Amino acid sequence: VKEQLRGLPPYQPGKSIEEVKQEYGLSEIIKLASNENPYGSSPTVKSAIAAELDRLAVYPDGYARALREKVANHLGVKETQLLFGNGSDEVVQIFCRAFLEPGTNTVMATPTFPQYRHNAIIERAEVREVPLVDGRHDLEAMLKEIDENTRIVWVCNPNNPTGTYVNETELRAFLDRVPSHVLVVLDEAYYEYVTADDYPQTVPLLQEYEQLVIMRTFSKAYGLAALRVGYGIASESLIRAVEPAREPFNTSTVAQAAAAVALDDQAFIRACVEQNRAELERYYRFCEEHGLKYYPSQTNFLFIDFGMDGNEVFQYLLERGIIVRSGKALGLPTGVRITVGTKEQNDRVFETISHMLREKQ
Ligand code: PMP
Repeated sequence: VKEQLRGLPPYQPGKSIEEVKQEYGLSEIIKLASNENPYGSSPTVKSAIAAELDRLAVYPDGYARALREKVANHLGVKETQLLFGNGSDEVVQIFCRAFLEPGTNTVMATPTFPQYRHNAIIERAEVREVPLVDGRHDLEAMLKEIDENTRIVWVCNPNNPTGTYVNETELRAFLDRVPSHVLVVLDEAYYEYVTADDYPQTVPLLQEYEQLVIMRTFSKAYGLAALRVGYGIASESLIRAVEPAREPFNTSTVAQAAAAVALDDQAFIRACVEQNRAELERYYRFCEEHGLKYYPSQTNFLFIDFGMDGNEVFQYLLERGIIVRSGKALGLPTGVRITVGTKEQNDRVFETISHMLREKQ
């Protein structure tokens, strides 16, 4: 195996409900570990999938034409400005494959979504990580890391695992100063959840900044994580350049059909986002009442700093049937990241954490 793969840990997903059921003999388990949509997906998805079941012997449309047309119309971009991936995970991989190699480097925040680093290591590029400041990207320090060998700068906006964001003024000032030979990949996996007024309108920025790539996904607000559809939006020439690095049939027929109808149901998205915001605010109040620090979030998750070993909090919740992510595994060792669930799920989280805080006092 190649040197860069030796000892490289594979991606560590959150624990699954089945695993926890078996391990702890619990029946009522809630998983708030992977920022999935607790309300599922649009009710239109099931019949769209059913309609494809007669076509399973046939390869999918590798270019995802029908979905491409819908997404292009929805965003107001050309169809040729889109690149679909088997989740945005694959879009990350494609851009790394296309731009990184030994002798190049890539700049990112830490902690952030781990797949940028992971794929860069596989391509043997140097990884330059710039610590967050107060949970936010330090764009100034990131600029300082850029040199003539830099190929990609990653801005996870809003950032996973903190939920914090770079606003329009900050992003523009940053893009104005990134040299033109460097790509800026803006990972907007949680875009639909954003409610802040000063969050940047990113698609129009593509006309001003040729080096900009935006990534979005159907896995989060659209609730289709199981089907694996993410996409990149960039200039036509950039998309054309990376297209050979894409697997020929990387999104399935079923996934394309589901994503297309899910996109049409914007009422579902609006309802989920509204509910998420209301529940997020209940989390804020809960944290404030209990003297817990948190990063204000523009996503469907919240990082809570308990000022104690994140694994301990993780374990306490796990043993009571609540799966979250320990900050220890995410580079923020004194807290946990919790996906905002339904009201009932969140009530159970609040109750369990209150209990823990009383016990540990
Ligand atoms: N980017 C970010 C910031 C994420 O949190 C995730 C999901 N964990 C992804 C990308 C990948 O999502 P998917 O491959 O399901 O589109």
